[in-house]
Amino acid sequence: MEIDKIIIPSSCYNEIVEHGKSNLPYEVCGLLSGNNNKVQSVWKLKNEIKSDRRFFVGKKIIEETLLQMAKHKEKVIAIYHSHPTTAAIPSSYDIANHLNLDVIMIIISYKTNNPKVKCYRVQTGTYKTFPFSIEPTS
Ligand SMILES: [Zn+2]
Repeated sequence: MEIDKIIIPSSCYNEIVEHGKSNLPYEVCGLLSGNNNKVQSVWKLKNEIKSDRRFFVGKKIIEETLLQMAKHKEKVIAIYHSHPTTAAIPSSYDIANHLNLDVIMIIISYKTNNPKVKCYRVQTGTYKTFPFSIEPTS
């Protein structure tokens, strides 16, 4: 199903921003899952190369995480990663290595004091910003 916007509960939003912040100066990444366009769970992944510019997660870990999601009756919606020192714009490496074109890319930038979060729809060789909203959680 083609979606035109994703909804992120504020608890999940805070969790991914905190995940990136607590691992500075290294990059982090993870997956967001849920149903349709609504995020329900955050899956933090281990960066298999400790780097401030790149992340790498092996196929095995991704596959295991997707299996866990399926057990929770959820599907992958987005993949997120952090940019410790650069703007929240996909690099050519990010675009070339994107998981799957149906999966939304989220980048959290810590370039400035206030972390910036951006969502993108990646297309072959390019990308465009993708709308998201943060839903208050009690
Ligand atoms: Zn990146």
